[in-house]
Amino acid sequence: MFDVLVIGGGLAGVTAALEARACGARVALAQRSWGATAMSTGALDIAFAPGSPSEPTVARSIEGHIYAIAASRARHPYAVVGSGSALLAIADGMKLLSSALEPSGLTPRPWEAIQPNQPYVSSLGALVPAASALASHGPVTGGSVACVQLAGDTHFDAKHVAKAAVHDGRTSWGRALDIEPVMLRFDGSLPPIGLAQRLDDLGAAHELASELKAVVAGVSAVIMPPVLGLARHRETLATVQDAVGVPVIEALAHLPSVPGVRLQRALGQALRAAGVVLVGEVVGAETSGERVVAVQGKGGERLPAKAFVLASGRFISGGVVFDFGCREALFGLPTVTELGALEKDAPQNIVRADPRESHPLMTAGVQVNASMQPIVEGRIAFANLFAAGMVVGGFASRFALCADGVALATGVIAARGALA
Ligand SMILES: Cc1cc2nc3c(=O)[nH]c(=O)nc-3n(C[C@H](O)[C@H](O)[C@H](O)COP(=O)(O)OP(=O)(O)OC[C@H]3O[C@@H](n4cnc5c(N)ncnc54)[C@H](O)[C@@H]3O)c2cc1C
Repeated sequence: MFDVLVIGGGLAGVTAALEARACGARVALAQRSWGATAMSTGALDIAFAPGSPSEPTVARSIEGHIYAIAASRARHPYAVVGSGSALLAIADGMKLLSSALEPSGLTPRPWEAIQPNQPYVSSLGALVPAASALASHGPVTGGSVACVQLAGDTHFDAKHVAKAAVHDGRTSWGRALDIEPVMLRFDGSLPPIGLAQRLDDLGAAHELASELKAVVAGVSAVIMPPVLGLARHRETLATVQDAVGVPVIEALAHLPSVPGVRLQRALGQALRAAGVVLVGEVVGAETSGERVVAVQGKGGERLPAKAFVLASGRFISGGVVFDFGCREALFGLPTVTELGALEKDAPQNIVRADPRESHPLMTAGVQVNASMQPIVEGRIAFANLFAAGMVVGGFASRFALCADGVALATGVIAARGALA
């Protein structure tokens, strides 16, 4: 029998599994397929609550954002667990993540809760505020920067990225940036994943590096499309970096996301290295009174455990479904949105006053207490069931940027609850 069985292998589930293993538990993890984590941009959003043009918040510290989010959004996990506990759990989760990603060369960039978010350039040109990001991404801070266009690359428009980033730097960040596009002959016409796989071949990486070196003399940094290798990303990035002799920064990705796929793969490697037993999809749950006794694998196998962590994501990953109403998929738990419980035929709960905010349905997930136990009508659903990540409801991931912070914090707290 396992001590903990985690359902879901995205960032939240992996964090919970690694935390439980670090505490010496026997851990299994069920994963159906890749979910939102494999689509993520490369940024690690911990907390950013945007202000207004008259009252911008880019200079506010990350912990200041956590306090602001917790104070203004009662159902947000940071409010449910309390800002101080959230901060500690995020820090512990980031430490786990850093050591998990170290072998893959993705170790997140250092961050401090007392520092503000940094501007990371995205493949669409926006300077996105983030607390940290996977190693190949970097904040754009100043100096003369080259933004690279590969021949035939229709997924990354360097002219647009450079222009938009300079504009965003001036209007949103108060920075005068100098970013110029440079054109390479290197063939970038493959889709992003294919291009990254081609650049796993170090011969191709050297070809790119030598052409780049010839055209970027005198710059202080180079922005590249996020395609610098997949399986051999560490070597590919080092090859290009060594050739040009200045920081090479991959832009954050849009879909399909090479950084997201790298992250998901690296998390899988970390699970195996930590000795977590991997099982496939689970399709049913066996409960007895106030406890979950076992889950059922797709092949009919019975998987008993002392405690369970539900980290099955939201709509994208199938953790939350909308059929006869909106519900959590495996246990049939009711869902809550940022605006409260979803009431049938109640349009006030699915319409928001501020159109910039996420649609309430995009915040639908299970309601939890401070130990991450799902609660139903004010009572703990099952004494040995805990939830982590996007399956937890009541918060938006895209307006108040916080999703990876929530995944890390709730993953750590859920694992500790499961072992208590
Ligand atoms: C397009 C996109 C881009 C994003 N980019 C960022 C970003 O750059 N930075 C950021 O901080 N956040 C980003 N997010 C938010 C992101 O979703 C979270 O930060 C985090 O990755 C979510 O992790 P998770 O583990 O909760 O969910 P997921 O990664 O969705 O994982 C849930 C897993 O559960 C599995 N599962 C579900 N049901 C079962 C079952 N019955 N049996 C077995 N397995 C099951 C799924 O297959 C899936 O693998 C992005 C989200 C999206 C959709």
